[in-house]
Order: sequence, then C-alpha cells, then structure tokens
Amino acid sequence: MSNKFTILGCGSSLGAPWITNNWGKLNKKNKKNVRTRCCAHIQYKNISVLIDTSPDIKEQIKKNNIRNIDSVIYTHEHADQTVGIFELRPFFWKNKKKIPVHGSKRTIKLLKQKYTFCFLPRSGYKPIMSSHIFKEQFKIKKNNKYLKIRAIELQHGMIKANGFIFNKIAYLSDCNKIPNKALKYLKELDYLVIDCLRKNPHPSHFHFDESLKIANIIKAKKTILTNLHVDLDYDKIRKKLPRNIVPAYDGLSFNF
Ligand SMILES: [Zn+2]
Repeated sequence: MSNKFTILGCGSSLGAPWITNNWGKLNKKNKKNVRTRCCAHIQYKNISVLIDTSPDIKEQIKKNNIRNIDSVIYTHEHADQTVGIFELRPFFWKNKKKIPVHGSKRTIKLLKQKYTFCFLPRSGYKPIMSSHIFKEQFKIKKNNKYLKIRAIELQHGMIKANGFIFNKIAYLSDCNKIPNKALKYLKELDYLVIDCLRKNPHPSHFHFDESLKIANIIKAKKTILTNLHVDLDYDKIRKKLPRNIVPAYDGLSFNF
C-alpha cells in the first residue's frame, strides 16, 4: 500500500456553503469551493490514522473510501475538529477493539469531559475509545510497523493547539502563531499544510497575508492552504499565489 496523505476537509468551522446556504464570495459553480470541516487522513504502510473528527467525518470517510481507522490524533478540542467522534463506533465493532485516541494532556482531558460516553461506560453503552497523551515525539504502531510523529505546540487564539510533523510533511490546521520552539522543526519539508482562514486578520487563525509570510519562511517544496472561509474563492486565490503554494480542496491528496 502506498503512503498517502488526504485533506478530507478544508473548510472553516461552518464549512462552505453554510447551513443557511451562504456562499460568501465563493463561485457556486466550482466544486472545489464546496468545503467540509477541517480534517485529514494519513495512510502509512498498513496504518490508517485520522487527524481530527470533524462534524462531516462520516461523509468524508465514505467519499474517500477509507475502510478502517487504527488511531485518531487530535489537534485540539474545538467542536469543528471533534464532534464527529461518535461516528467512529462502527470501527470499534469492526475491529473488536477500542480505537486509540491521541492528544495533548489538555485535549485528552477536555475530550473526556465533552464525550465521556466514548471513554467510560455510560447508560449501558460500552466505551469505544482509549485515550493516550502524546509526548513531543510518539509512534502509532500496528503489528511490526510504526509511524513516527512529532507534535508541536501552536498558538490558536486563547488556547494551544497541536500541529503534526511526519515524513517531511507538516499539518498545522489551526494556529495564529508558530512559536520559535516549533519553527525549528519546520525545515526541509516536502509539504506544509497551513491554516489560512480568510482575507482579513482573525484573533485565532492566520489570514491570507500571514499564511504566505509563514510559507515563505518555512519554504516547504509545496504549501497547501487550509481551513478556508467563504471569502476565499479557490480560483481567485489560486491566481494570486506562486506555483508552489496552492489552496486546498476537499479530497486533495498526495503520495509520500
Ligand atoms: Zn479551533
């Protein structure tokens, strides 16, 4: 099996269009402007890892033909990255084992508070997940294979979110500042996937000009902008970008 990274969703917290059918500045005719909430998938050898469980996770998994999930790693506890968690129940039945969930100490604590029924027996339902607090570097193992991941801490408004680095790929979906401590690991990357919420500044996300500035500091071979709001039209921003920086779209994937 080839190693593959897939952007399952590249939309901001409300996706595009919104539930009210607000398309903002997006061209409705371009399918790349239909965006589900931020979420990604790593297929590494025989290991299938989900980054976050968005509210759209069921459709994302079906659409991308993902047959199994071995582990979930969480960037942070916000609703747009987590509320799809209970949708994973069928994988628990399929594998007859709890799904390992990995996060920072803070994320795991808050996930257990918000989604207690996933981790502890509740009202006659069995828990479907086991929780694991990751260290700066950790491994997702399956049989004799493993995927090595570095978790870096990022500023995301009032909270700290995590970004992940593995095999010269960095996924930083929710941040408005990259501390120097984290920046030193973001070197010689093949791919940088980075938060680029909207045109104007925002207190907890990078905006367009900032994302480009960061991309030019990190200088990955290719940069992919994600977490896109309804004011950033795919074709319009693509035209403004150099060739090595592209806006994400749902289902964008690459082999590594
Ligand atoms: Zn968030």
